[in-house]
Amino acid sequence: MSGERRNLARLGERVSAARAETEARGETFYPGPSRVHLAAFPPRERWDDWVELDSKSWPERRERRYMLVPTTCFNCESACGLLAYVDRDTLEVRKFEGNPEHPGSRGRNCAKGPATLNQIVDPDRVLYPLKRAGERGAGRWVRVSWEEALADIAARIREAIREGRQREIMYHVGRPGEDGFTERVLAAWGVDGHNSHTNICSSGARAGYQFWCGMDRPSPDHARAEVILLVSAHLEAGHYFNPHAQRVIEGKARGAKLIVLDTRLSNTATHADHWLPTQPGSEAAVLLSIAAHLIRTRRYDREFVRRWFNWEQYLAAEDPDGPRTFEAFEAALEELYAEFTFEFAAREAGIEADRLAEVAEVVAGAGTRLSTHCWRSAAAGNEGGWQVSRALFFLAALLGAVATPGGTYPSSWNKFVPPPMRLPRHPRHWNELTWPGEYPLTMYELSFLLPHFLADGRGKLEVYFTRVYNPVWTNPDGFSWIEALTDPDKIGLHVALTPTWNESAYFADYVLPMGLGSERHDLHSYETHDGQWLAFRQPVLRTARERLGERVADTRHTNPGEVWEENEFWLELSWRIDPDGGLGIREFVESERTPGERLTADEYYGWIFDHSVPGLPEAAAAEGLTPLEYMRRYGAFEIARDVGPLHEAGVPASELEDVREDAFGRVYSAAPAPPARNLAPTGAPDGDGEGRRPVGVRVDGRVLRGFPTPSGKLEFYSPTLADWGWPEYAVPTYIHSHVHPDRLDPDQLVLISTFRLPVQIHTRSANSKWLDEIAHTNPLWLHPADAERVRVRTGDAVRVETEIGHFVVRAWVTEGIRPGVAACSHHMGRWRLAADTAVGRTPGAEGAGSMGQRQLMATVSLDRDGAAWKMSRRAGASAYASSDPDTSRIWWTDVGVHQNLTFPVHPDPVSGMHCWHQAVRVTKAAPGERPGDIAVDAARAREVYRRWLERTRPAGTHSPDGTRRPHWLIRPVRPVRDAYRLDEATE
Ligand code: SF4
Repeated sequence: MSGERRNLARLGERVSAARAETEARGETFYPGPSRVHLAAFPPRERWDDWVELDSKSWPERRERRYMLVPTTCFNCESACGLLAYVDRDTLEVRKFEGNPEHPGSRGRNCAKGPATLNQIVDPDRVLYPLKRAGERGAGRWVRVSWEEALADIAARIREAIREGRQREIMYHVGRPGEDGFTERVLAAWGVDGHNSHTNICSSGARAGYQFWCGMDRPSPDHARAEVILLVSAHLEAGHYFNPHAQRVIEGKARGAKLIVLDTRLSNTATHADHWLPTQPGSEAAVLLSIAAHLIRTRRYDREFVRRWFNWEQYLAAEDPDGPRTFEAFEAALEELYAEFTFEFAAREAGIEADRLAEVAEVVAGAGTRLSTHCWRSAAAGNEGGWQVSRALFFLAALLGAVATPGGTYPSSWNKFVPPPMRLPRHPRHWNELTWPGEYPLTMYELSFLLPHFLADGRGKLEVYFTRVYNPVWTNPDGFSWIEALTDPDKIGLHVALTPTWNESAYFADYVLPMGLGSERHDLHSYETHDGQWLAFRQPVLRTARERLGERVADTRHTNPGEVWEENEFWLELSWRIDPDGGLGIREFVESERTPGERLTADEYYGWIFDHSVPGLPEAAAAEGLTPLEYMRRYGAFEIARDVGPLHEAGVPASELEDVREDAFGRVYSAAPAPPARNLAPTGAPDGDGEGRRPVGVRVDGRVLRGFPTPSGKLEFYSPTLADWGWPEYAVPTYIHSHVHPDRLDPDQLVLISTFRLPVQIHTRSANSKWLDEIAHTNPLWLHPADAERVRVRTGDAVRVETEIGHFVVRAWVTEGIRPGVAACSHHMGRWRLAADTAVGRTPGAEGAGSMGQRQLMATVSLDRDGAAWKMSRRAGASAYASSDPDTSRIWWTDVGVHQNLTFPVHPDPVSGMHCWHQAVRVTKAAPGERPGDIAVDAARAREVYRRWLERTRPAGTHSPDGTRRPHWLIRPVRPVRDAYRLDEATE
């Protein structure tokens, strides 16, 4: 036996012995992921009183006693489990580690999870409600009571609703971090006022998936895959970053091949067996060349395609007089994709045809174990990017790798959203500010166009909430946001719900402090693998105190300062909007246990855990706990494993009553729908117009559940796209990006701004000192050939010119990027205004912090001359004195550049996605130009907006049925059916 084998054998023995010893004590053993650690986490039986030695006291032996309280991380959308180590003596959180009971993250976190500790003790955070004391944006604030803020906001909303101005109430959320609570609050108000950040993030990817299967995300089973095909940087920043990254690595450890399409040499690309550094925008061409190879060589799963593609609909529409046989479809398929040769894709992508052919063979060999994922990346960068995810799913569908072990599952089957105590009605009106007629097929709200719509005079807002959202900084064309936010005729009251200062909160009327991941309640469930789980975010100090026997009714009582949480805030605000129940809102937030009183967080969540989570009451009872106690103790619950191919499930006879079947096998039934057990969002296919609802689809003689698409099948051919004005895109195809080489001038590069750093969060990590020390700036990636052309070296200042202005940034010369392409991470360039400019004055209000996050924000001056905006950096980050001694040790000064300010809006005419990539000119900065300098012409930004708007195909001229949008497409808050009608004068 070799030495290494002997060591491994010895380690294996030690792990077994440790497991036996732990289990003999009646405790849970959590084996570590590496071969070094015997156990990775404290046994859950000892979470009430866990003893560790204090590392700082060494060599003195000093014990610290902890209570371990689970919550979930809020630093990206993955909602990984965290365990807060609450010191039993001081009741302070001393660290966060992973929660081994969480089925998605399985005890593991990325660096941002433990850095939650930095955020909760951030000396610059906002601790008390603040109200504007001078002009909006003037930087003067007074501390107010929650009572005062709530009364003012509630009165304005009440008035708007009573006067029929529901359209003037808007809630604009970045990362929701929860599943549907706030959407239901808005619906209870009767308001179609939900606005999200989706169109600057994932509309492109969602559109591709939704047109295929009626669900707008993939749930790849990376761990069991033979081949993992990613269009994005999933090991550093992909969607469901840590849960997916650990499963990608698990798959690789089992021998899976990893293929990555990424123009940059990302961390993911460095792990790839096949890295395809595609020309930005060419990704769909590459994927379709692989599809064409599968079709040409008959390497696709013929049975799956025959059973589940809506090929009969395709033939009926495209060749109505031809034979309606599968063989005819196969012939048409081959013809359709014949142009996508490897040579064609090679020309588009700038990658040799041989390499593409090699990768196509790898994909062909995956069979049903091809896991695929595309989220932001190319789908978010390019005009037509939605065809990238569509083309990617095409590969999985051709191989029959849909809902198979190691394949790609549709999202909603791997997600669980429990029904709450009460479901509110649908709002009765349609909000044109978020769902404008030009974009009937958009995947969610045209959020980033709001300032332009307001400037067009399409409406105004009485009350505008921003939450986990910083549009001035996050969105393109940020100066248009400053213009809107500082105009009280456009926005009457801006309420920023935020734990920290940000570039948009400066322009608010109220800044209301909200809790971080360990200071609030939320429920979530994400499609991290083929399973269903539910995780519970909770205020850990509240739970710790309750474990010690205290009764805590309000999260503010255990949070720092007067920091609250949104859910209790929304409940209280709703209660006050409708004090006598006359508006029909109060009934949704009234306690069932004690009528006449407001619902509490305990009752709300307790009811859900008691009634809506299969298996949880039984699991809790087995431990002598109530379901709420169980979730407070463990933080997560696994509902199902190996959910499998739900489309293949037979429809029970009880659901088949007075059935009607259409020409393509869609089956409608008059049987009443059983109560929904899982509210995970899906498409909502229409009924037959005679009172029957779609229940399944006939396949080979049996009525199967199918997919939530109009046809019940996978829609290779989308009648929705064909009928709503885009017949040329009815099947997966390739659309030339707005940055296609044909559209670039010879001296232009493509700028990729869609990537992020694995250790930074959009807006919230600015004072996460551990993260800031690792990464604090965003240099421009330039290939040596381009650097030589513009005569710059690493560290030199370069000027990057966009359609509407320019920014100055330092160069980083690297071979990790294609020639002709530049890249700049979107995480950096945070700013606060200098004290002598409008916003930067030190506020007099206690609890206002510094009006900025000094560990990662530059101090800037802002000037405006008509449409000309200018920002200049006065100072970078520097050491400062605070309650945290580490702030006096800050050694970095460069905090990057806010490039998004210089990007005009590029709304994709179909998906509505902002197409982030920019055609830019890069030159060496002129004397006097310094990193951080930004200039923008807002008039040009308006022109670009109008240019893109002209390319849409509005519902008014293209709707096939007189409605504003296909009713079946997912919409976060769905108004009543009548509100969809173009001719309906809605309330
Ligand atoms: S991936 Fe990292 S930031 Fe995201 S939830 Fe998990 S630990 Fe937090």
